[in-house]
Amino acid sequence: MSGQGGAKAAGGKVVPLRASRPCPICGKKSAPEFHPFCSKHCADVDLNRWLKGAYAIPAVEPPDEWDEGAGRGDGEQD
Ligand SMILES: [Zn+2]
Repeated sequence: MSGQGGAKAAGGKVVPLRASRPCPICGKKSAPEFHPFCSKHCADVDLNRWLKGAYAIPAVEPPDEWDEGAGRGDGEQD
């Protein structure tokens, strides 16, 4: 007596797509070529933002060494 084992093949397996994050710049669907952005434009925008932040250094003011009132003889003799 042998039982018949019915092996059920697991079919219909749904492979979930990679959750695509929206473009951080405009919120559109990101493109694989410009991941994580949607286009080169948004990639450039982000790059510019980054560069601006990197170059946003405090302005260095020139030293106060403009002494012009030295050696000025006002000799008024009357
Ligand atoms: Zn975008």
